[in-house]
Amino acid sequence: MSEGNVVVTCRDCTLEESFENLGRARVALDDHELETGHDVDWRIIRVAGGVEQAGADAGVCGIPGCENTDSALLDWQNTDGEK
Ligand SMILES: [Zn+2]
Repeated sequence: MSEGNVVVTCRDCTLEESFENLGRARVALDDHELETGHDVDWRIIRVAGGVEQAGADAGVCGIPGCENTDSALLDWQNTDGEK
């Protein structure tokens, strides 16, 4: 379903190939380096959709829980300010 998450690119030739996970990408990377002696790099295009969605759901703002944290901080700041 998800593919092309990890892209292997070669600095010494036009090789550019995408893989669905880092394990397969590293195998291809190692193979190309062994076969050609080229300097191969890789990069992660994006994490799995579910992981990305979970990160968005846990977002740093717009969540009611964040407001509770803010009020607790305000109480602490008020106490500190009275001194
Ligand atoms: Zn190459």
